Order: sequence, then C-alpha cells, then structure tokens
Amino acid sequence: MLPSNSRFQRWSQAALSRSQFLRLAAGALLPFAALPSSAAAIKNPKLAQNSGAPGTKGAAAPGRMGAILVSQFGPVKIHSYLSPAEGLHVNTQMVEGPNAVVIFDGQLLLPHADEVASYVQTLGKPIDRIILSHAHTDHWGGLQVLTERFPDARVFGLDGIADQVRAGGPARLDGLRRTYGDKVATKVTVPTERITEGPQRIDGVTYDFKRFVDGESDLQLAALLPDQKVLMAFDLVFSPNQHAFTGANHFDHWVVVLESLKALQGYDTIIIGHDTPVGRSAIDSTITYVKRAKEIHAASADAKTYSEKLKAAFPDLQQAGFVNLSASYLYATPH
Ligand SMILES: [Zn+2]
Repeated sequence: MLPSNSRFQRWSQAALSRSQFLRLAAGALLPFAALPSSAAAIKNPKLAQNSGAPGTKGAAAPGRMGAILVSQFGPVKIHSYLSPAEGLHVNTQMVEGPNAVVIFDGQLLLPHADEVASYVQTLGKPIDRIILSHAHTDHWGGLQVLTERFPDARVFGLDGIADQVRAGGPARLDGLRRTYGDKVATKVTVPTERITEGPQRIDGVTYDFKRFVDGESDLQLAALLPDQKVLMAFDLVFSPNQHAFTGANHFDHWVVVLESLKALQGYDTIIIGHDTPVGRSAIDSTITYVKRAKEIHAASADAKTYSEKLKAAFPDLQQAGFVNLSASYLYATPH
C-alpha cells in the first residue's frame, strides 16, 4: 500500500496533496536529452501557479524551482527536495533528527543544490554529514554547493564510491556542461569518508546501511530506518509512474537485488531516488519493468529500437528521457 497522506505533514511551498503533486510533476516533465541550456532558468510555472491557489498560501516559497515534501515519523522528519524536470526529478533527502540533519545525495545541478542548502538552513540544525547513495552524476553533481555552504559536513560513501566518482566524474561534468552550461559543477566533489555496512546511530536515529552491487548502478547504498519502518532504497526502486534508468546493464542481478528488498518485512514506506515516496508495490513494478527492459534489450540491435520498444511497452510512464539516456549507455560505441 502507499503511505497514507497523513504521514506527509506538509508541503513547504504549498499545501499540495500527493495526487496534486504527481499531476504537477507530470506536467513539468521534459525530455532530458533534448533540453537546451537556454531552458535552464525555467521555473516550474505550474507549481508556482499552484502555490498561489486558494488555501495554499502561507507555506509558499515563491520562486523555488523544486518541491519539498515533509514526512514525519515520530521525532524524525524526512524532508524530500525533488528537483524540477530539468534536474531529472532527483531527490535530496534531509533526515532531521533531534539535534542535526543528515543529507542524502546532492542533486544534478548547482541551482537545485543551492535550493536544498537554503531550505536545510531554515531547519536551524547543523548538518551532521552528507551521504552519497551512488556514483551517478544526478546524485552528486551539486555536492559542490553543499560542501561550500556547509564546509564542516563531511561527505560519506560506500567503499568504492569515491573511486567511481573520481574516475568518471570529470568526463560526466564536461558532457553535462554542453547541455546545462554554468548550472554544472566546476569540480568533482569526491566523498572523503567511508560508510560501513550495518546498523549505526546518528543523532539518535538508527540506520542500517546496506551495500548492493550490480543493480541500477554498479554500487548502491540503501538505508533501513527500522524504528521508522522506512526503506531508503534510492535508485534501486523506481516510481510506478516513471521509467527507470537501465543503462548500467545489470538487468538480471538488479532483479535479484529487488527480490532481496522485497524480503525485508515491515518496510511500508520506500524513499526513492526520483519522485515521491512509494509503497511496497513499487518493488514489484520495478521488477516488471527491469525484466521487460531486459527482453527488449536482448531483441534490439540499436539504441533507437530499444528506446522505441521500451516506450511502447510502458506508454503511460513519465521520464521518457531516462529511456533515451539508458539506450545511449547500453549501445555506446567504445571510444
Ligand atoms: Zn538517479
């Protein structure tokens, strides 16, 4: 089941319901690959418009490009910043405990990371640390801003993540700069601290960190919050409303990973890398998607065929830009 709306305490920018938000998010989607850099300054007109609607004033944040959802679990609040379509609808999660905030992931683009930093400052608590879930650029590209604005916050990642970011980061930023110009970081921000698997307490909140290989990415962190019954799965699980990124070509093992997540009992709220939190059924829908994508990949000789067939197989899903991006990775010619 989906988490009940009562858990979502408030939208910081507007008193939007989850369904309202999803409609707005759908309306804001643009294809990733085709987006010109001149579109970089686009505000989200529908969100801005909605924030001025009757009954939604007061908590509005005029001009904010992203959206923020706050989910409360007893003394712990999870603030989810969701970037607009230009930033690939990627989340930064801010887990607010009694005395501090732990930030997970740092956005693709600098302006969105800047909005994260400004928002988290309003919470009035120090940043304990920043944790990177995996080495895909949409999750670390904006870390430059967060580390500049919070110089005391150390950046953590699983053993191996720093090497991946260091190795692939410069080329990824150069590529993104052709589309997004100066919205892209000027330097690669590499985690300096290792996060180890297993349970640990940070600011009184218990996290059980798990390491998964060969899923949506080569190496991925997940975090269980057993007291809150929250699974932070990041990009291992995708929204039932969106396409998934399949470019890492780990179809079979990703399904194995998803089956292991499914075996975790009692975690009814799943926090994901893109889009708003989902229920357990999203694990099944992600499995269905990955299996179908594998079949289509096996039957497609080129990127165009893969893209067209996958979009045709899931005509109702948003984020079609992920399909094009995945195809470009799956069928990349060596260079
Ligand atoms: Zn992602």
